[in-house]
Amino acid sequence: MRLSRYFLPILRETPKEAEIVSHRLMLRAGLVQQQAAGIYAWLPLGHRVLEKVCRIVREEQDRAGAIELKMPTIQSADLWRESGRYDDYGKEMLRIKDRHERDMLFGPTNEEMITAIFRSYVRSYKSLPLNLYHVQWKFRDEIRPRFGTMRSREFLMKDAYSFDIDQAGARHSYNRMFVAYLRTFARMGLKAIPMVADTGPIGGNLSHEFIILASTGESEVYCHRDFLGFEAPAANTDFDDVAGLQGVFDRWTSLYAATSEKHDEAAFAAVPEDRRVSARGIEVGHIFYFGTKYSAAMNAVVAGPDGVERPVHMGSYGIGPSRLVAALIEAGHDDAGIIWPEAVAPFTVAVLNLKAGDSTTDAACEQLYAALKAKGVDVLYDDTDERPGAKFAKADLIGIPWQILVGPKGLADGKVELKRRADGARELVSPSDALERFSA
Ligand code: ATP
Ligand code: MG
Repeated sequence: MRLSRYFLPILRETPKEAEIVSHRLMLRAGLVQQQAAGIYAWLPLGHRVLEKVCRIVREEQDRAGAIELKMPTIQSADLWRESGRYDDYGKEMLRIKDRHERDMLFGPTNEEMITAIFRSYVRSYKSLPLNLYHVQWKFRDEIRPRFGTMRSREFLMKDAYSFDIDQAGARHSYNRMFVAYLRTFARMGLKAIPMVADTGPIGGNLSHEFIILASTGESEVYCHRDFLGFEAPAANTDFDDVAGLQGVFDRWTSLYAATSEKHDEAAFAAVPEDRRVSARGIEVGHIFYFGTKYSAAMNAVVAGPDGVERPVHMGSYGIGPSRLVAALIEAGHDDAGIIWPEAVAPFTVAVLNLKAGDSTTDAACEQLYAALKAKGVDVLYDDTDERPGAKFAKADLIGIPWQILVGPKGLADGKVELKRRADGARELVSPSDALERFSA
């Protein structure tokens, strides 16, 4: 992408309404724009990050055996009357009437709809296990939307729903998602700790929230410090290995970790003092096993091997990609701006032309830009005629992991400068050596 032809609206001033660093940086670096309280437009740079986050989420869902579909944002109230949640959900649900005065709603979650889809097609245990997911916008009329996309009213969610014939099967489905979540967050460079959690209006009794520690987090959490050193399961994990996945689950739940709603002072006091972490955290994912709560209410039954019909066992599994973008910035920034992990960066490398208009510099930049594009590397070429200082500041602000600085001085010695955003480390290398460093 050529910056001169891109749409990257950078704000000069730090927006006053933004209370936390990720919100400030998302506005300043032109990632999002607020449209109404808790409702954001994703501008091109932010959209690229959101898509990269979603790609990782999808890859790990697919790896764990979940199957993607897409359900609508608008749902019929009747579906929610079946489960009894239409009245229970309260003011967080945005209720809408269509032109025929029918009660509709903007979906805050999809348990009812997926249960209705399931029951219209699946009759036998032979079709199980099944896990269906989608990535779709949700609306919850939060009483206090704040912190930008961290707690918004309209937000993106990946929600998966598992179906099993019995509790043992559902347990394995839960473990699959548990392991998929560990991998998902680790791939984004985040240390997310599974913590015993409250189930809230979703219901059920087995539930974990995946929390990353951050001083700006809204949750109060307590955990064992050793979790921060745990390695996520490998890519070749066998998701059909029931005992193996249970082993991973057991290890990741062997130490104390709980949110404030589930906090147990006595158990926490048993953790050695120097291992105790009592901190704030951001909930980036939440998984639930809730048995037959919805299937029994909505008559989603399957016949077992004995021919007897029974309500299917279900779980649901959420990740908030739009919240994750903010969480990633909370976890990665400095005074100059955002520091994206490579896996989710909007561009991997920025080529900065330090003397646009100088024919040698232009030619070297064009060559680098074309070669990087040909390799499939996400590259942003700053071909504008701004001063070098302004280009450095902008590249730092938007957090591109690598910068290649190209100017006449270096080129006279056959060199360009390669700068790593994370620590500012710089190296003089030939343009072809710089190219060698990158692959798609
Ligand atoms: P919270 O406790 O933060 O209000 P929740 O428990 O109501 O969230 P879930 O129903 O578990 O949320 O939703 C699954 C995921 O969706 C959450 O883990 C979070 O990543 C994301 N999410 C939920 N609410 C919001 C929101 N208002 N803004 C952005 N992301 C959200
Ligand atoms: Mg939750």
